[in-house]
Amino acid sequence: MTNHCCEAMTSRVYVCCDQHAGPFDCPDALVDFSAKFQEYGLIIHDGGTSSITIDFCPWCGRRLPESQRDRWFDELERRGIDPWEDEVPAEFQDHRWLTSCHE
Ligand SMILES: [Zn+2]
Ligand SMILES: [Zn+2]
Repeated sequence: MTNHCCEAMTSRVYVCCDQHAGPFDCPDALVDFSAKFQEYGLIIHDGGTSSITIDFCPWCGRRLPESQRDRWFDELERRGIDPWEDEVPAEFQDHRWLTSCHE
């Protein structure tokens, strides 16, 4: 369980919903949190999977964690894994890779 900056964020981050397949299908979902990238995105309900990455919390105004997207790709590359071709290890599917590797 990831700790978010404030209660409002915690309650707005999409976790799971029985009625919809994912955050983009769920009209109640406002924020998509990518654990593996540590990115927060405002979901745009236009029928696709668009979201706007946000750097600050819209509710409490705190700066959100820095995106780890580049590191994610670097780390996979270091292990000789091509995320588009190869199977991505389970720890890279969520935040676990962040605690398992050191710079
Ligand atoms: Zn839903
Ligand atoms: Zn907040």
